[in-house]
Amino acid sequence: MDCLFCKIINREIPADIVYEDEHVLAFNDINPQAPTHMLIIPKTHIATLNDLEEADLALVGRLQYTAAKLAKEAGFAEEGYRVLMNCNEKGGQTVYHIHMHLMGGRRFTWPAG
Ligand code: AMP
Ligand code: ZN
Repeated sequence: MDCLFCKIINREIPADIVYEDEHVLAFNDINPQAPTHMLIIPKTHIATLNDLEEADLALVGRLQYTAAKLAKEAGFAEEGYRVLMNCNEKGGQTVYHIHMHLMGGRRFTWPAG
């Protein structure tokens, strides 16, 4: 399958992998928007949030749970951090394999621009 993140999962292209288990993979974003910027992805290919099915609910929980775990390990869980998922073009999605952004190490403003 011609999917960048599936290729990272299959070790066909390199990435700075920070966490892996049976269900999810996490790696540093190549174009970080914060001192720490990781992407947490499911090991199964799901193109967008719109493609989620009920059978995937536990998997999405794992993405969120892994983000919190990595935030604790990185040391910014208490001070705060941001997680987000972009969906489709107007949402800013550029890679069509769902991923959770975990960003920390700076202050984030809300509402975002
Ligand atoms: P999004 O715009 O929400 O689809 O996020 C895609 C993210 O993937 C962006 O933050 C990119 O910087 C990141 N990205 C693209 N290619 C790679 C790569 N080869 N390794 C790590 N991160 C990547
Ligand atoms: Zn994929």
